[in-house]
Amino acid sequence: MRERIENIDLSIRKISEKAAEQDEVVRFDIGQPSFDTPEHVKEAAKEVLDNKQGYSPMLGLDEMREAVTSEENDKIGYGQEGEKISKENIMVTTGGMSALYSIFAARLGQNDNAVFNDPCWGPYKMISEVSDNQWTQVQYWDEDRNLREEAKKEIAEADMIVVNTPGNPTGYVLTEEQAKEIGEFADKNDTFLISDEVYHRLTYGKKHYSPALYTSDSAIIGSVSKNHAMTGWRIGWIVDEKENIEQYAKVSRASTACPPRISQYAAIEALQNDSHVEEMRETYEERRNVLVERMKDLGWSFVSPEGAIYAFPEVGRDSWGFCMDMIEEGVAMVPGEPMGPDSDTNVRICFGSTTKREINQAFDKLEGKIE
Ligand code: PMP
Repeated sequence: MRERIENIDLSIRKISEKAAEQDEVVRFDIGQPSFDTPEHVKEAAKEVLDNKQGYSPMLGLDEMREAVTSEENDKIGYGQEGEKISKENIMVTTGGMSALYSIFAARLGQNDNAVFNDPCWGPYKMISEVSDNQWTQVQYWDEDRNLREEAKKEIAEADMIVVNTPGNPTGYVLTEEQAKEIGEFADKNDTFLISDEVYHRLTYGKKHYSPALYTSDSAIIGSVSKNHAMTGWRIGWIVDEKENIEQYAKVSRASTACPPRISQYAAIEALQNDSHVEEMRETYEERRNVLVERMKDLGWSFVSPEGAIYAFPEVGRDSWGFCMDMIEEGVAMVPGEPMGPDSDTNVRICFGSTTKREINQAFDKLEGKIE
């Protein structure tokens, strides 16, 4: 077995295992929308269920690539000055996860380095371990939302940078100035940029801006998992130059062969008839508001989530000890420690999977347990 695989740490599973053992635990640890896939989306899949379910084309069904093309063009356009993209720029993948894997594996050799924010979504590091490249983590932004000098140094030296907005685990959303600053900086230093935008439709009073617009070498990652409550359907995509898409397709061919056919029909429906997104977004925003009030009452410090479905408060003690203790009180959260060296006193709370009532119940339990 390869040592890097053996060393991948899945200790985060301890949280869900412990939570599953207890009665009446509020599950802030699961990064999964509480909503089911919208009915009309399921219907679209049922309609094609009796058709032959063979492989789909390697880059995805034409109709799906067209649907993604309009979604991405409506969002921001692509490339410098937001030029329009066409279906040639799209590869449909088996979730955002395999989109990321295809890019890492295609772009980075053993000695190449990828840079991630501190904190970041854990699987970026895991994908690096599996695709066998190097990675470093550095906090990108200071409190005034300027790119930190230390981050500039790392980005300038790196082969690839991953930017995630709206962000997991913080709910942080880049302003237009930030997207421009980091995009232009990567461009100037010839550092390839991945813009992970899988939560782009879930923002609260903020507009989504893509750093990919400000650099000539970038790829955008999208997915229906969170925006459309379709995590189990496993559909995502990459937006990049046609020549690069052809290279990523080789990794996809060697790993998943093609994205699932039936799920693409569901995803086409979700993208084309998408009023459900706004309904869910409004609900998440209400939950976010309740959570923010309750975290303030506890005296926690945090950056108010402006997007995605997470908050990342500072809890004033080691995150593992805190999370393990709080499960016993009936509240499951994810420790910040695996998400970055500067995040060991933070925890991730997902408000996508819990109702307002559950958020209140959880914080009623936490009050009194926290000095
Ligand atoms: N990027 C981020 C930041 C995520 O949080 C997730 C899902 N948790 C993904 C990518 C991958 O999404 P999926 O594979 O479910 O499409």
